Amino acid sequence: MKSGHRHADRRSPYVFDVHEIAHRAGVMKEFEVTVPAPAELGTEVIGVPEGSDSHLDIQLQAVVEGVLVTGHVDAQLRGECSRCLTELEDEASFEFQELFYHPGREVEEDELTIVDETVDIEEPLRGAVVLELPFTPLCAEDCPGLCPDCGFDLNQDPTHGHGDKVDPRWEKLAGLTGDN
Ligand SMILES: [Zn+2]
Ligand SMILES: [Zn+2]
Repeated sequence: MKSGHRHADRRSPYVFDVHEIAHRAGVMKEFEVTVPAPAELGTEVIGVPEGSDSHLDIQLQAVVEGVLVTGHVDAQLRGECSRCLTELEDEASFEFQELFYHPGREVEEDELTIVDETVDIEEPLRGAVVLELPFTPLCAEDCPGLCPDCGFDLNQDPTHGHGDKVDPRWEKLAGLTGDN
């Protein structure tokens, strides 16, 4: 719910003060900061570890309707290969652009407003991160995954196999014939 009575959380490193520029269309302000990543930034399979260093490059540009925020974020990623379940660590960059409207104006459900002369970029940042992350992260494009029979990581030995004794039912039958 959007309400004019919401207050900005000025302690959040994702909240930027725009009072100097908000009403001076054309004026621009830039910030470069390294901040800790917020909790749950990502999906269930991969995301930015909470508290890890995220480098923000933020441009705030005053426009007639409000403040246009252009952001570039370099962040660390941690996740799990969806085939072999190995832990993955990587770095990624995310980009977003969001217009924060002046308060007092009717906005759509998905539009953001300047609150207490600040813009809170956490929501657009989350949107950009979730959109960019792979649904099925892989440790390598051609990761062979796990052996379907025993769960062995085939990255460690691509020749891994179970010969003819793959199916325990066959093993049992072989045993029976052996007894006869
Ligand atoms: Zn893998
Ligand atoms: Zn196996």
